[in-house]
Amino acid sequence: MTNSEIVDLLELTGRLMELHDRDTFKTRTFQTAAFNLDKSTADLANLPVDELIKLQGVGKSVAQKIREIAETGHLTDLDELLAETPSGVLDMFRIKGLGVKKVRTLWRELGIDNLRDLQLAGENGQIAKIKGFGASTQEKILAALEFLQEQQGKVRMDKAAMIANLLRDELLKHFDRVEISGQVRLKAQEVDAVQLLVQTSDPVSAMLTLGSLPNVVQNERESSPFAWRGQLNGFDVQVEILFYPAEQIDQQLFIHSAAEPHLKQAGPTGITLLQAAYTSNESTETAIYERAGLPYIVPEMREDDFAFRWASRHQNDELVTWEDLHGTLHNHSTWSDGKQSVADMAAYCRKLGLTYFGIADHSKTASYAGGLDAERVHQQQLEIDQLNAGFGNDFRIFKGIESDILGDGSLDYDDATLATFDYVVASVHQTLTMSLEKATTRLLRAIEHPYTTILGHPTGRLLLAREGYPIDHRAIIDACAEHNVIIEINASPYRLDIDWHWIEYAMQQGVMLSINPDAHDLPGLLDMHYGVAIGRKGGLTKAMTFNALTLKEMSDYLQQRREKIRNRV
Ligand SMILES: [Zn+2]
Ligand SMILES: [Zn+2]
Repeated sequence: MTNSEIVDLLELTGRLMELHDRDTFKTRTFQTAAFNLDKSTADLANLPVDELIKLQGVGKSVAQKIREIAETGHLTDLDELLAETPSGVLDMFRIKGLGVKKVRTLWRELGIDNLRDLQLAGENGQIAKIKGFGASTQEKILAALEFLQEQQGKVRMDKAAMIANLLRDELLKHFDRVEISGQVRLKAQEVDAVQLLVQTSDPVSAMLTLGSLPNVVQNERESSPFAWRGQLNGFDVQVEILFYPAEQIDQQLFIHSAAEPHLKQAGPTGITLLQAAYTSNESTETAIYERAGLPYIVPEMREDDFAFRWASRHQNDELVTWEDLHGTLHNHSTWSDGKQSVADMAAYCRKLGLTYFGIADHSKTASYAGGLDAERVHQQQLEIDQLNAGFGNDFRIFKGIESDILGDGSLDYDDATLATFDYVVASVHQTLTMSLEKATTRLLRAIEHPYTTILGHPTGRLLLAREGYPIDHRAIIDACAEHNVIIEINASPYRLDIDWHWIEYAMQQGVMLSINPDAHDLPGLLDMHYGVAIGRKGGLTKAMTFNALTLKEMSDYLQQRREKIRNRV
């Protein structure tokens, strides 16, 4: 059992106790423990009670509950609460903006215990009439319901890749060749079907083999003699496994790894890629492009005609790769809401072969995330100086900050404090509901600030969970070009923000992009792999990738920039 699994169970228990009006004091012990343990690096599953109670927010009773979870995989208290809660009421917690109190009111006063009834009540105007709700809450609930419906059956790219790899490894025990195709190979940021191709000359026995696999459930109505469709247990996304004989699999792999508009592209001969795929004697992907008279396009870019526009100006080997990255710039540590120390994060970066590690903890206004006031900034920088003194010339920690962009677009510190950083990532974290004009103006002001180096997660979106605030992307990118501000590709699979569709425009305006993992722990640093994938999808070149600069180039760049500001301010 991982820490986050344990914390989730504690959190849900606290939430359901509140929903069912249980003893307030007991309820709070669960909530406090969940809140505090969320950031803990202690190995919760393996600590005895007398060690657990030393952790902040953990009393004896919660410690015993943690032991129960670790030993049995569940919690009796929670099982009882779940038995009393209609599953539709639990679904209501997935609606953004609905806390326990509102869910309880909707359930108790209007008798709403499922999402369908919730939608009807909203459409009939009943929700607006409840005390404490009003028309705007009703509108938000309806919008969130619509968003939720659109997201149903989808997973983010990290989970989709995990499912695809798991299935491929399992299938390779039974078949000679298995290929991941479809949206996963295209590096789609949201995936509604995980697709694999299996080589077999005997689809009947292949189907029987699939029937014997553990953890998969077939949807027989959707399946056919050559296509197994169903799900992997526990994942709300369709899995599709298609059978092809050896002589067709290359051709089919190509056809299943490109969007339709891409397949319809024709070269000077008038032959489309799809026709070329069906008529080539040789069915390797390079041969198919050659036959159509088109340049070879990497799988992640096979969406539409964008790739060919791109290819008229660039070569495939210009695309950024993981090996091109020399460092990382947007990361958190235990100084704010990260789980590991600056030293441990830096050490891991060195292990990954990176030559610089940029720390950009939260700024003071982000108090919910342990944002640093000026004094703590100073202390952190002393720590970094000390750590840097221990490195040779081949590694360095840069002193950054993720400064909140305040409501009026200003940054979170005075100039004297801002001047102490090597660089500043400016991001919006609070008051996310804004009109397009308001959001754009707010970001423009932050971009104009002389100390802003990188614009962080420009829309604030959380994939499959929260739409970003609307912004005028062109105006933002143009302003970044004018003020020499780099735009982040937030590489967390939850964000992937700025959206890849805007990468080409940014590059054309001369705006560099930085693949920033926004890591809060060691594995988070590996999220840069998703950033590379999504960057390549948008045609990002090594030359326009900020953190592809070498240590020397990055040091010089940041140094020159600081000098320029000093002369200006
Ligand atoms: Zn942020
Ligand atoms: Zn961050």
